[in-house]
Amino acid sequence: MFELDPGAPNVMPARYGQVSVASVPSLSPDDLVARFTGREAYFRTRFVVARLDGDPEQCALLELARDGSDDLFSPAVAARVLASAGECAYVRDDSADTGVPSHMARVAALHPEHRCLVLEGRYRHVSFLLNAAPIRVTVLDVVPPEPSKLADQVARVLDSAEDMPPIAVSERIVDSRSLVAEAGSLAEGLIVPCRGGDIEIEGVEVSHLDERPSSVGSTLLGCGRSQQIHRWFYGTDAARTIDWCPRRLMDAAGGAAGSGLVLSRCCMLEEGTERHGDTAMVPWGATLEEVRTALHLLAGTGDGAWTRT
Ligand SMILES: [Zn+2]
Repeated sequence: MFELDPGAPNVMPARYGQVSVASVPSLSPDDLVARFTGREAYFRTRFVVARLDGDPEQCALLELARDGSDDLFSPAVAARVLASAGECAYVRDDSADTGVPSHMARVAALHPEHRCLVLEGRYRHVSFLLNAAPIRVTVLDVVPPEPSKLADQVARVLDSAEDMPPIAVSERIVDSRSLVAEAGSLAEGLIVPCRGGDIEIEGVEVSHLDERPSSVGSTLLGCGRSQQIHRWFYGTDAARTIDWCPRRLMDAAGGAAGSGLVLSRCCMLEEGTERHGDTAMVPWGATLEEVRTALHLLAGTGDGAWTRT
């Protein structure tokens, strides 16, 4: 009669239209089941958020079993409680879209003591996320310029990602200036790829590789492509290179092992996306579409992790 596993991860309606909101005098499970069993409901209604009369922040989540009739209204064959009053957090957040799983997961993370988030979100739509278990992705990027382009792009993509399972991002942002500081003396000057990098270090003469500086500094700060360009311009490697390629930083940190799924970028990748195990790479100048593809590659279809009703 009921097909849904109430313990499945990330149970979330594909459309908020499956959810109806009702005002009830009691949230006791027996009362709720008795109230909604046999009660007429709109044909699309599969879930009911039952809110307590007089204290509507108190709520419970029910699932209705339907007889498959496509009449506009028909009685629910059965009803069961998916999350009790004590398990539900009712939250209003106009910044969250109930159709975007990552938005739901973001709000749910603020209420970890509740296994069911009932969200009244943007457009006043009401929906829920049960057993939130977002896919965790670490974005590894290098600054400056700040803020991290990749982290910003990931946020923009997830902001409208209705077709992706809930994803929770943590950022690992490496400041290339700290790599320089670790490298010690820069008496001979520093070459950085371009002015856009916005790197200034007190007491150090900084030149920009894209301006083809005539005086070759001793230290090159850059990714693999900058090293190639240096060889093209000057016929030789820089006397010293500080390689900031996130790909290399990742390797130095022991690869993606132990850190779960990682998304990063590399200047040696011109277009498209690459996936190796738990790691996906996009080009240094990635498009939003490439970032979206990489997130899809990492998260998969969410099979087994995302229970779309
Ligand atoms: Zn690289």
